[in-house]
Amino acid sequence: METHRTSTRRITGIQPTGHLQLGNLLAAVRPMVAGQHDVHTLAFIADQHALTVDHDPARLAGLTREAAAILLAAGLDPVRCVLFVQSQVPEHAVAHYLLESTATFGESRRMIQFREKAGGQESVRLSLLTYPVLMAADILLYAGVGQDVEVPVGEDQGQHLELVRALGRRFNRRYGLTFALPRGVQPGSGARIMDLAEPGRKMEKTNPATAGVVFVLDPPDVVRRKILRAVTDGDRVVAYDPVTRPGVSNLLDILGCVLGRSATGLAGEYQTYARLKADVADAVVAVLEPLQRRFADISGDPAELARVLAAGSERATALAGPMLAVAQQRMGLLPVAHADAR
Ligand code: ATP
Ligand code: MG
Repeated sequence: METHRTSTRRITGIQPTGHLQLGNLLAAVRPMVAGQHDVHTLAFIADQHALTVDHDPARLAGLTREAAAILLAAGLDPVRCVLFVQSQVPEHAVAHYLLESTATFGESRRMIQFREKAGGQESVRLSLLTYPVLMAADILLYAGVGQDVEVPVGEDQGQHLELVRALGRRFNRRYGLTFALPRGVQPGSGARIMDLAEPGRKMEKTNPATAGVVFVLDPPDVVRRKILRAVTDGDRVVAYDPVTRPGVSNLLDILGCVLGRSATGLAGEYQTYARLKADVADAVVAVLEPLQRRFADISGDPAELARVLAAGSERATALAGPMLAVAQQRMGLLPVAHADAR
């Protein structure tokens, strides 16, 4: 890896479960790009996590390429960072099994997200239950004991990160100090971008109701329309208060993220919702348009994208491979001897 200001590693995964939306860009992708010169950044498209729920194979392949191209278009430098596709580094799946043999059924079953998504259905995929254990593999493979590793996590992933730490700690206790325990850090700006049509719920790429979701690849006129139609609050005062004025506060948060300014400070500059919405629309389009042009260039050359991802998975393998070998040996699995070594 290139030299960075600190030896900290930062790991971020994005699931290709849908088209990336503005919240992903502002809270996850842009901070990753901004931090790539200071911190060793590992970014991966978590395609295996997208297998935990019903999926369409051709769509998944397309969304995986699309997400990688968006990260590059947003300015992620594949030389500075290690950018890869999870399934192209099979060490993750192998380590997943080792960690499944470290985790218990009880603790996996207790994960809130599993209980919510599974809804008690027998037909739910087994991988939905074990997905936080794969997440542990995604993280633990990239830092040996003594190394500092951080994972930006929203509050919905807090419980999973605790499980990752518990598994790392248990493995270390049973088999000898091996893995660094990751620290959870607040992602980027800390802002949670809410759905424009339903400001009580977070903007989400898998929401089937798309009127309030600004997708990174939405054409500018669609972006404008969605923002101009954003649900705002009863009284017509522009003030920042996410509890009593979730709609207008969300617009201020978006503008604040885009401009790198405080939402509260911006509130004082507006008298009308119409003016605020127009400025939010302009600011978002100004971020998305150049990104979309670079995206078109990048996705116009699929062979080059495949080459960039192959180089990324080689570098990820160089980090994860030795760690996996140590973990396997510590658990009592025999190392592979070369057939011609006598
Ligand atoms: P899904 O419906 O598949 O969960 P998602 O839009 O929530 O889709 P994730 O793949 O779960 O996206 O998350 C990718 C990254 O984007 C994570 O770092 C997550 O914290 C962040 N993120 C997702 N949605 C928002 C949002 N509305 N505001 C801020 N950050 C978000
Ligand atoms: Mg999510």
